[in-house]
Order: sequence, then C-alpha cells, then structure tokens
Amino acid sequence: MLGAPGSGKGTQCKRIVTRYGLLHLSSGDILRQQRVEGTELGKTARTYMDSGALVPDQIIVEMMADAIMKAPDAGFVLDGFPRTVNQATELAKSLAAANQKIDVILNLQIDDQLVVERMAGRRSCPQCGAVYNIERFKPKVEGVCDNDGTKLIQRPDDSAEVVANRLETYHLQTEPVIDYYKKNSSTVYDIDANKDAEEVIALVFVKLDALARG
Ligand code: AMP
Repeated sequence: MLGAPGSGKGTQCKRIVTRYGLLHLSSGDILRQQRVEGTELGKTARTYMDSGALVPDQIIVEMMADAIMKAPDAGFVLDGFPRTVNQATELAKSLAAANQKIDVILNLQIDDQLVVERMAGRRSCPQCGAVYNIERFKPKVEGVCDNDGTKLIQRPDDSAEVVANRLETYHLQTEPVIDYYKKNSSTVYDIDANKDAEEVIALVFVKLDALARG
C-alpha cells in the first residue's frame, strides 16, 4: 500500500486484512512499538520520525525483512514500506528469500491540501493505535479511545510543521517508488483517496475481489 501520509493507508489496510485474512505489516506501527518498548531501534528512529524525515534505509530494510520472514504463508499487506527506491530493490531480495512476491500495489492518491486538513484533526490512541478524527471520525466520548478508554493524543509528527516535512519527503523520496513499480511492469492500481474512506475501500475491494477470483 503506497500513498502520502494521511492518505488513509493504515485505515484501508486494517479493512483489507480483515476481509482477506492477511497480516498487516506497518513499518510505522512497528517503529512506534519499538519506541514504546524503549529498544535501541526505537531510540534511533525517534529523531527521524519526530522531524518528519525517513529512518535510514538499512535499519528499515532489516526490520521489515525480519517481519516478512516471520509472516504466515496466507500473505500480508505492507503498509508504509517501501518508501524509497533503494528499499524497493532490497524488498525484492527479501521477498525472493522468503519465496514470496508482490501481487498488487495500491497507490492512494490525495491532494496535499487535504492531507494538511486531515492531519490537523487526527488523534491517535497511544495504547492500541486506533485513529480518530475530531471532525470526521469522532470517538464516542471526546478525547478518549473507544477500545480501551486511553486518552487520545496528537502524534508528535502530525503537527502542521512536521506534516509539511513529511509531505516534502514523500514527494522527493517515495513518489519515485511508484514509477519504479510501474516501469517494472508490476500491477499498480491508482486509487483516488480524496474521497471518503468508505468510498475508497469500496474501490479497493472491487480491485482485490477481482484479483482474489483470479
Ligand atoms: P507512518 O506511520 O507510516 O506515517 O510512519 C511514521 C514515520 O515512521 C515516518 O514519518 C518515518 O519517519 C518512519 N517510517 C515509517 N516507515 C518508514 C520507511 N519505510 N522508511 C523510512 N522511515 C519510515
């Protein structure tokens, strides 16, 4: 799953893994978990993440290769990885080693202005990772997670200044990954992610159902 920050990758991936019985492998979630656990990896990643920069390729490639090796045969959805062309070429090697391949790439396309608006309203649960929006997807009780009652926070990297950096990083380093896959003759579906989440997931399910039918 490729797309800018705030394009809805995480939300769409959660729906996909439930429908098709896949594992959700989110590089951002794994990094945040490492930070909560206070590991060396988590500590190294913190400065990059909080400024909106990418964590160095070597760290990410090793982390994701490990996750892929441990993934069940039923398959998985990669969310937020690869984010550079170098990561994409290294991913190809990890997949070959695990006897896996990419079936399809979903590319969520969204306008920068909408990303800025969405991120300003985004609130997350630091405990379970659930994501809300103060305008569009409110929790039942204001400021509190529906799942576990934890106080919701604004992720440090969702502040306006960091979002601007994350968008710049996306355009410079991650957009070339889409061209890389298109040139590679991979199956890439461009999805209009300016629409509501429900409309987007309907488009995604149409594509994936057809793929699943073969
Ligand atoms: P996300 O939750 O996917 O938006 O990721 C949050 C932050 O984690 C990003 O802004 C990066 O600092 C870092 N990150 C996540 N995935 C990657 C990746 N594939 N390569 C480098 N940094 C990443």
